[in-house]
Amino acid sequence: MNRKHFIKIIAGTTGMITLAGLNQFTNGLNEEDHLMPLFFIGHGSPMNGIENNAFSQEWKKKAESMPIPKAIICISAHWLTRGTFITAMDHPKTIHDFGGFPDELYKVEYNAPGDLELAKETSTLIKKTQVNLDHDWGLDHGTWTVVRHMYPQANIPVLQLSIDYYQPAQYHYELAKELSALRKKGILIIGSGNMVHNLGMLSFDKGFINEYGYDWAIEMNQIFKQKILDQDHNALIKYESLNAASKLAIPSPDHYLPLIYTLGLQNKQDKISFFNDVALAGSITMTSVQFS
Ligand code: ZN
Repeated sequence: MNRKHFIKIIAGTTGMITLAGLNQFTNGLNEEDHLMPLFFIGHGSPMNGIENNAFSQEWKKKAESMPIPKAIICISAHWLTRGTFITAMDHPKTIHDFGGFPDELYKVEYNAPGDLELAKETSTLIKKTQVNLDHDWGLDHGTWTVVRHMYPQANIPVLQLSIDYYQPAQYHYELAKELSALRKKGILIIGSGNMVHNLGMLSFDKGFINEYGYDWAIEMNQIFKQKILDQDHNALIKYESLNAASKLAIPSPDHYLPLIYTLGLQNKQDKISFFNDVALAGSITMTSVQFS
């Protein structure tokens, strides 16, 4: 609700604040007004974790434009498991799960706390399967390379929920729905992956500096965005039959499934907006979505 609307309701046309007006305002405050925004974030190269670039600046801006969350739960493309796990340690470690990058990147420690109580609560919320409390994982680069730009002080608890890689997209969509109560409790949920993600076809001569996408990558990016706007979740769940280029965009679903989580968590009334909407190195898109 914007300020103008608020004033109109409580003050009416006379400009006087009336009890009836106040009641109307209070009654109009339903839980939906307090839903935390929800994000799918294209994380791209791990170097984004230490670079001050257009992508990381946008992540920072998103955090600055919304209420401070009580905690963050990230579904990262880089934690694939058999069964479902949630990190349940007081101090999740920073995992440097990549190879061949500069030393500087391996030195990053993102020392956000965990939240054991939230891990237990989340585990209880999910009825679809048993969610196991995890004491080994931590924060992989799908999470920390993004979140450290959003909350550089590392003072907000961060948890990760794993992706059961033996389950189809429909399963993940339904599981995500069971987490929707968390948005009403000030928990920020982020799906971190990339919609178009084909590392085998990267165009190294174009690199990660300039925008460049193969025709099929641009086409798939458009299709994904349109289906997201249309709220045609069924088509996005059945991504293999979405288009002839689906197999090129999603050769394996690891970076796509985090999007399915955000779709499951989406509320029909959420406003949908895109950011970092570019293709890189031919076969990757950074396209990200905010639902709020
Ligand atoms: Zn990745």
